[in-house]
Amino acid sequence: MKSFAIALFLSVACLNGACAQQEHIREVRSEHFLVYYPEGVDESYARGIADTAEGYYRDITQEFNLIRDKLWLWENRAKIFIAKDEQDYRTKYKCPAWSGACVNHEDKMIYTYPDQKRRSTVFSHELTHIIFREYVGSGRFPLWLDEAAATYIENKYGGNSYENRLFILKNAMSANGYIKFSDLNQMSTSSLATASRETVDLFYIESFSIVSFMVKRYGRDNFSQFLYFLKNGSTLEEAIPKTFQSVRTIDDLEAQWKKFYTE
Ligand SMILES: [Zn+2]
Repeated sequence: MKSFAIALFLSVACLNGACAQQEHIREVRSEHFLVYYPEGVDESYARGIADTAEGYYRDITQEFNLIRDKLWLWENRAKIFIAKDEQDYRTKYKCPAWSGACVNHEDKMIYTYPDQKRRSTVFSHELTHIIFREYVGSGRFPLWLDEAAATYIENKYGGNSYENRLFILKNAMSANGYIKFSDLNQMSTSSLATASRETVDLFYIESFSIVSFMVKRYGRDNFSQFLYFLKNGSTLEEAIPKTFQSVRTIDDLEAQWKKFYTE
């Protein structure tokens, strides 16, 4: 994707509010993204980030046919902010100290710094959240479905295999310790924050496995249709029987999913 670089000044507010300063920030533009980067970061690096983001944007929207009403063009493009280095990233943005990138999903903003190691997984995963939520609409689906879509794309395009970690789910299933769908539907960001590492891992693998099952058993077009019903106001309970033959309830879905992974 062709992109353009221009120079501009942006006011950068630091975390503690005390170090607001004028910093010379440059900008690279691509079709759906504006990438901001400071002096000391190569233009070619910023351009590479724009290209990476455009690639995932295309993969994500095409994978599940996530055509939204408002296009990411002109003023509605997503913004990517690159800090000068890791230290600058930690000081400037309100991101967790351990993170290599973080995202403001609502405002379509991604913050990162050069040479962070997990660029592919972060961009594929977080861009899916942004696009998925924009398509389906927030609040119309449980957290697991949001994470399922993100991990599915991350697994397929982001070079992070969840497929190879399905043994975690299968081990849990054989001990009858997987997360029941009725519990999974209730899990939220705050309940995960206090859950054990094992539960969090299982939550992600299990979420991935459900979408992977739906796509393998019923096809990608049917899964896209399922999301389309959610987008248009159906609840999860209504969208499942509308989409998947012989699945009338969430309990039916759970039984078929369990059979799929234990056969
Ligand atoms: Zn996520």
